[in-house]
Amino acid sequence: MNKMTVRDIDLKGKRVLVRVDFNVPIENGSVTDDTRVRAAVPTLKYILDQKPRSVALMSHLGRPKAGPEPKFSLRPVVPVLAGLLGADVFFAEDCVGPVAEQAVANLPEGGVLLLENTRFYKGEEKNDLELAQQMAKLGDVYVNDAFGSAHRAHSSTEGVARYLPAVSGLLMEKELDYLATALENPQRPFVAILGGAKVSDKIAVIEALLGKVDKLLIGGGMANTFFKAKGYAMGNSLVEADAVETALNLLKAGGDKLVLPVDAVLGDEFKNDANIQTIAIEQGVPDGWAFYDIGPRTVELFAQTLKGAKTVVWNGPMGVFEMPNFAKGTNAVAQLLADITGSGAVTIIGGGDSAAAVEQSGLADKITHISTGGGASLEMLEGKALPGVVALKDK
Ligand code: AMP
Repeated sequence: MNKMTVRDIDLKGKRVLVRVDFNVPIENGSVTDDTRVRAAVPTLKYILDQKPRSVALMSHLGRPKAGPEPKFSLRPVVPVLAGLLGADVFFAEDCVGPVAEQAVANLPEGGVLLLENTRFYKGEEKNDLELAQQMAKLGDVYVNDAFGSAHRAHSSTEGVARYLPAVSGLLMEKELDYLATALENPQRPFVAILGGAKVSDKIAVIEALLGKVDKLLIGGGMANTFFKAKGYAMGNSLVEADAVETALNLLKAGGDKLVLPVDAVLGDEFKNDANIQTIAIEQGVPDGWAFYDIGPRTVELFAQTLKGAKTVVWNGPMGVFEMPNFAKGTNAVAQLLADITGSGAVTIIGGGDSAAAVEQSGLADKITHISTGGGASLEMLEGKALPGVVALKDK
């Protein structure tokens, strides 16, 4: 990576301001999944080992609408982080202004402070530079370890980097290294797997990937629009009428590289205990039924296509994986990736739902890299530069 990291800068005696991604699920005041907090720990431990004066952490949480809302407070993260760091973690009820500044000043030598949700300020998402300047007062050095927010130009991810020496954390570095290496210099064969609800969200990704991969496997609801473009009946399946022409163009551009499902698991209602049948795609989806998962012959076809692959990137579930009866295709693909990782392939999961599916299947430790940023990794796959990364100091 051509950006400076925490290892390239002197942190001793400095007040370090770190943007982390602690956008974690919270229920009844407790964190229900601490994956993102754990992901920041190596960077925080590294910083603490350098004997800084203080470490102030900022993050967003959820989507508060109009200012502070207790249910979006970051306070529940404090005990989780303290446990993981084995150190006291202090909390400030504001992310800028006198309360935050005083809290930083009051920290014991090397103390850690978690600041309140940056999105309690409306300016955050508008990249308000006055807000960014206020944030910059809390540190001598800025470290961005929030890969999951790096595709957004916000005050805490981009603006603040204009006012302090800005470097990446170790998680950010790792995320960029895996994705950039896969995209710029992949070991071949390089196979991408895309799924999820809509093709319209992923047209730019498909176009960009077709220029790089050896095969592109398509599953999930987005396959429907391709099938519509091929003239198959799709019953009640989610089809995007506006995207049919684009799908047709992608089919032409992709040729043999694009691999679509050959069979489908259908439901007659959008619920787990719907009636179910499996059909060959050429049969077409009957009226009253919808395509909710890829079928076993498709899993077999994907397994054949993945055989011998050296780099695999996966983003998006193969079906309505939240419903166990339509999660089999997604779980099978998770297993295929775990298997080929065992045979030496580099496997990368682009965050979001596919990461959740791999975690649920208990296969997370059998995958080379699971990204903490769904949106950010999709934008990298599209070939876009991430504003939170561009803002960091070049090496
Ligand atoms: P995305 O956010 O685009 O990655 O889409 C993820 C969502 O797509 C999940 O909530 C899935 O339930 C949904 N999804 C995947 N396949 C289908 C399908 N065949 N029909 C309807 N929804 C689907």
